Amino acid sequence: MGKVTGFLEIDRQEQRYEPASDRVRHHREFTIPLTEPEVRNQAARCMDCGIPYCHGDTGCPVHNQIPDWNDLVYQDDWEEASRNLHSTNNFPEFTGRICPAPCEEACTLNLEDTPVAIKTVEQAIADKAIKGGWVRPQIADKKTGKKIAVVGAGPAGLAAAQQLARVGTRFTFTSVSQSPAACCAMASPISRWKRAISISVRPRWKPKA
Ligand code: SF4
Repeated sequence: MGKVTGFLEIDRQEQRYEPASDRVRHHREFTIPLTEPEVRNQAARCMDCGIPYCHGDTGCPVHNQIPDWNDLVYQDDWEEASRNLHSTNNFPEFTGRICPAPCEEACTLNLEDTPVAIKTVEQAIADKAIKGGWVRPQIADKKTGKKIAVVGAGPAGLAAAQQLARVGTRFTFTSVSQSPAACCAMASPISRWKRAISISVRPRWKPKA
């Protein structure tokens, strides 16, 4: 688990926003990330519950192993935290930003206190993994010889393509846009993602010859 007494000692802290007067003037990401020690502090609040309501049917829909990577971040083992997170989540750099975080609603700490800042920790792991070059294609040993059309190149289509590539099946996108996740990157007025986020996923879904 995180720090045994972490939830008693440490208050929840989330990313901050740039002032509205600044962020209306650009289309870049406007959240201000926590520092690494701050993220570790947040991970330290996790109690590693016997029944972790944060994941599974009561919490995270993609079954992220949240208590595990909270502990890994607290132990400062970010690379293993990244491996764990990417084992259940194709694009944590997306979900760490725009998921409504049912995991936090479900967090046991939310009963009497404030929930663990799970989404903030997730985004920090995902961003550090991209920066550190830890996100690499998982090339299948054998090819299936099959090719599948994936309709739409949004996050769901990209995730499907990534899973196909991992089992050695070629794929092709049928999408109105030339770029993957173009709608998310260019047109979403809600998230205003950095284009770099979607561009960063290309090495992972691009099939190898
Ligand atoms: S429910 Fe909250 S405190 Fe419990 S394991 Fe999940 S994140 Fe940690």
